Amino acid sequence: MERFFEELKNKKLKVPKCRDCGKHIYPPRDFCPFCSSENVEWVEVSGDGTLYAYTINNNGIHFTDQTIGIVELKEGFKIFTLIGKPLEELKIGQPVKLEFIELETGEGKITLHKFTPQNKS
Ligand SMILES: [Zn+2]
Repeated sequence: MERFFEELKNKKLKVPKCRDCGKHIYPPRDFCPFCSSENVEWVEVSGDGTLYAYTINNNGIHFTDQTIGIVELKEGFKIFTLIGKPLEELKIGQPVKLEFIELETGEGKITLHKFTPQNKS
């Protein structure tokens, strides 16, 4: 996951992609869990997806009361993520777009991905 967060700092959402079977690998690993190939490369993803599931995080240390959820990306994999709108404004299947947020933590600044529904309906 280390590389994943390094890329986020540069405002890029990148995950490994298998050169053999073409699937994106998330959470990131050094090998392909689908075909066991180690022939993987890091690629940037589009940032376009749809909302698959969502909830409110009441227990998080950094993210209390943040909306969190799962987004299915155009590339065909699902990612656990912060969501940039309150629950009342969300619908399953809604198109969402990638954004980045920076947070101060005890260990310094981190960059995270966040997906926000598009206003056009
Ligand atoms: Zn593969």
